[in-house]
This record gives sequence, C-alpha cells and structure tokens, in this order.
Amino acid sequence: MSAGEMVCTACSCLCDDIEIEIENGRIVSMEKACRKGTAFFFGSENERLRTVHLVDGKQVDTDQALAAAAGLLSRARRPLVFGMDNASLEAQRQGIELARMLGAVLDDSSSFCQGKLTHDILTGTLPSCTFDQIHDSDLIIYWGSNPHNAQPRHLSRFSLYAHRKYHEMGATRYVTMAVVDVRESETAGAGVAHRFFRILPGEDSNFIAAIIEGIKGNPVRKDASGFLKLLKQSRHCVIFAGLGLTYSLDNDFSLFYEMLKHLGGWMKTFVIPMSGHYNVRGFNYSLYNATGCVNKVNFAGGAVSHGDEFSLLEQVKNRAADCLLIVGADPFSSLPISVLKHLDGVPLVTLDPFRTATTEASSVVLGVSLTGLESGGTAMRMDGTTVTLMPAKWTDKQSDVQILERLKELLRP
Ligand code: SF4
Repeated sequence: MSAGEMVCTACSCLCDDIEIEIENGRIVSMEKACRKGTAFFFGSENERLRTVHLVDGKQVDTDQALAAAAGLLSRARRPLVFGMDNASLEAQRQGIELARMLGAVLDDSSSFCQGKLTHDILTGTLPSCTFDQIHDSDLIIYWGSNPHNAQPRHLSRFSLYAHRKYHEMGATRYVTMAVVDVRESETAGAGVAHRFFRILPGEDSNFIAAIIEGIKGNPVRKDASGFLKLLKQSRHCVIFAGLGLTYSLDNDFSLFYEMLKHLGGWMKTFVIPMSGHYNVRGFNYSLYNATGCVNKVNFAGGAVSHGDEFSLLEQVKNRAADCLLIVGADPFSSLPISVLKHLDGVPLVTLDPFRTATTEASSVVLGVSLTGLESGGTAMRMDGTTVTLMPAKWTDKQSDVQILERLKELLRP
C-alpha cells in the first residue's frame, strides 16, 4: 500500500491537501476531497469510463493512433485546435507549439466563459488577488456563482470559513459574505451568506447602474441601496465573478468596471473569476505569454491574428475548420446540437483520459493518463497561483504531454 498527498484536478481550486491511499494499483481511500473530487477520482478507476486508442471505433496501438491523427492533421487545410483547459501547463505549451506548427486556429472554452476577465487581469486592467490575500478582506461577494456545486471547497478552504478573522459563533463578524444571484442557491441560502441580493435574470446591468447612481448620491432602488450600504462599510472587498454575471452582461464588463472605478474612491476591490476547468486560467496565461492573446488566435501563414471569428463557436457555425484536434475538452457535451450539426463530416482527433460525448464522435481517440493522479506537471489555480501536480498512481498510459510531443515529431516538416 502507498499513501500520500496529491492535488485534485476536478476543478480550478486545485486543492493540494488530498490524502490518498493506493493498494494493488487501485485507490482504496481518499480523504479531504469534496464529493465532486472523490467521484472524479474513484470514477477514473472504472475502465468503462476510460479511453483507449481508437481509429474509426477500432482499438489500435499508440503508433497506429498517432499515425492516423498525424495523417488527418497533415491533410487539413484549415485545422482547429481546441481545449487544453483540462491539461497541464506543459501540455498546453506543447499544444500551442503544435497549433503554430500546423498554422491552425486555436481556442479554448474561455472564449465563451471567463476569458475576458482573465485577459484584463493579465494586462493589469482589472485588479485581482490571490487566495492568501483574501485574509485581508472584510467583504466577500459571490456574484452569479454557486461554488457549492461548481467548486465545493471554495468557501471552506479559501474564502469565508478559511478567513483568519472568521468567527463561527462570535458576536462580531470581521468578514461579511454577500451573494448576488438570480435564485437562492445553496451558497446564497441555508444561512451560509450573511446577505443575499436576489435580482431578476439578465438584470445585472440594471443593478450595477443603480449602484453607480447611488454612489453619485442619487436615490436608487432598495436592493441597490442596501448593497451600496454594505460596500460603504467595507475597506477591502473581493468579488468572485461567476458565469451568471458574465452571461448576464453578455461579456461586456464596461458598466461593472465603471462601478469598480467609482468604488476605488473609498475601498480596495479585487476580482477573481470563478473558473471551472482546473487549468483554464493556465491556458489563458500560456497563450498570453506566447501570443499576447488569451484565446481565439489564428496561426495561419506563420503570423498571429486574433478575433471573434476564431472562436470555436464561430469556426464551427461557419464550417471554417476541416479538421479538429481536441485536447482535454468535451465540446459535444456543452455546445447546442444546432451548432454541433455543422461538424457533420469534419474529422475529429481527441486526446482525453475519459470517454466523453466528444470521444464518441471522434475519428481518432488518443487515450491519455489522468493528470494529477497518473501523471504530473504544473497547473494554475483560479487565483493565478501555480500548483505542482505529482502522480500518485502508476499507469501504462502516456500523458497528454508525451502524446502531443510525439504528434509534433510526426508532423514536423
Ligand atoms: S473543491 Fe475542487 S479541487 Fe477541491 S476537492 Fe473539490 S473538486 Fe477537488
């Protein structure tokens, strides 16, 4: 039996205190992981959920799968590389180099999630902080996010309950937690949040506009006035911005930034995007370092161009790509069928440790090890902190880094 600590890669909290015991190559116990992380890793023991190398549905060896993948990609005139949000920083670097070598379009899920906020953090436009710096805050706001389901240990390990001044039973709270959401989620209700501001779906911009009016001293609606009162009592506020906010604002944060600018007159405000996949922030960071853009780039002709037309959604809708390489992503589970139908007849090459709707639709599947459990590397937590991943279990599967390196070798001109 072997026992040790590992990092959970089931979400972008990257909890690094997971205690695991392995016996005869199987997980026998896992401590400290939440229900999401536990289900993820115990699920990886079920061989029926794992991938093998496949070409047109037939199981093949690694060399045959790589040759088939290289053949499809080398024949493509407009290849598209997508994903890498569930891949290590090392795999992302290989994937970016491969996309450049292919002259491909490259995008990830951040183009329809939190990419805008991460871009603005990386360029210094939007103030952000690390989880450690949350200990200085006196106000924590979850806006359009419900970590209870998406990042279950967020509160206990990094924010409210981990705050060094939090008093569970004390008469005085040094830190207040508020939620802005369209429904009373588990995070907003059940006595978890101290304040809950319920707004109508799509109403975030109206709510923000009312707060700005309140800051200017104009009379405003009751909920905005209550929210403003809370802000005025604070000196250091951290806002965890969720997808509910992003989608409600339709990715246009200008009003939200205007509010932050006004608030800057009397308080420090920091924003951390509530990312989903474990290394989506890492992908934005890796691509930004390589190209100055966080997503939606085109390497055609040896140059780097950027634009909305290079998002996965636009590429698929416009039938612009003639072959897709998908790494650690499952767009067939998240995109609408009305969009996916445009991919009929387009060959897909997919690297993934798990069987997914996307691997089922792929011409070539390359089964890889599960990063965090079976292979190591580094990844970037949602707050921008780099975390080292150490494998806890042996596998004969190659990692995504190794497969991408070999694919690069086969495609090198
Ligand atoms: S909060 Fe996320 S990283 Fe932490 S144990 Fe749960 S799923 Fe894993």
